[in-house]
Amino acid sequence: RRQHMQACANAAAVTLDGVSIEVAVNVANADEARDGLRHGADSVGLTRTEFLFIDRQQAPDAAEQQQAYQAVLDAMPERPVIIRTLDVGGDKEVPYLQLPAETNPALGLRGIRSGFADPALLDMQLNALLAVQPLSRLRILLPMISEVDELLRVRQRLELLAGQLGLSERPQLGVMIEVPAAALLADQLARHADFLSIGTNDLTQYTLAMDRCNATLASRMDALHPALLRLIAMTVEGARQHGKWVGVCGALASDPLAVPVLVGLGVTELSVSPGLVPEIKSRIRALDLAVCQREARSMQTLSSASEVRQRAQHCWPAA
Ligand code: PEP
Ligand code: MG
Repeated sequence: RRQHMQACANAAAVTLDGVSIEVAVNVANADEARDGLRHGADSVGLTRTEFLFIDRQQAPDAAEQQQAYQAVLDAMPERPVIIRTLDVGGDKEVPYLQLPAETNPALGLRGIRSGFADPALLDMQLNALLAVQPLSRLRILLPMISEVDELLRVRQRLELLAGQLGLSERPQLGVMIEVPAAALLADQLARHADFLSIGTNDLTQYTLAMDRCNATLASRMDALHPALLRLIAMTVEGARQHGKWVGVCGALASDPLAVPVLVGLGVTELSVSPGLVPEIKSRIRALDLAVCQREARSMQTLSSASEVRQRAQHCWPAA
């Protein structure tokens, strides 16, 4: 019975009408990737590399980074692994990064912006990533992108470093869609990116103008807000124009009630917490894509997140 359950967990998540949805895991290290694999994850959809950089006095050198990234790939054999470049700055304290004090850190030198503020640190991370094997399984993800030039700048840098290392292979390069500007320009980004991954935590924060750490607003911070649904639809449409895929790695992907909505909007990869993989997979197996598509379209005309939730509960009552 146990063997049977494991086989079920590992099987692909396919909708009733035969569409496969990739269920990946969000991890911070190799142990969590192993946990995801045990729970039947298809791949790693997001490795947050912050864990390597915080709570210390000096940045990890390229060798230490390479070892940590390789460990994540080794923990998820034969499957794709997405590793995100450092997403610190502003409120996330990293003493050795010489970032200025900011009155509004969420709108400051965060994500890729802090990488451009310290190009040597970004280069070191890109070099460590390029040293991982096999590169065919590595997908690099850039946080807080708001326009194409930022992506092109990293792509160029990656090209130069790979050339210096004499590499013939290149990892895929994708961008986070977590700023409204990126969703609005998704068609432009998708032209130059290999894939798009929606960070609903920040996309909600920046779209609704609600601090994701503000406890008073927490009950109203709902990523199923119709404004978010429209931005997600726009992202999928932009990607479709260039034949690229869209995933969701924010917390919304781990919300069983949101899964039919995201699938209906055209998202084909959901990256969730390791322990939730079986639940999200079984949820997908009960869905009819045509119904999800129809409902997701009509939900975009609703006027609040609570209306969307009520509607979703009505359509997919199991949640
Ligand atoms: C997000 O913003 O949704 C995301 C996945 O990134 P993080 O939570 O690490 O900011
Ligand atoms: Mg984010």
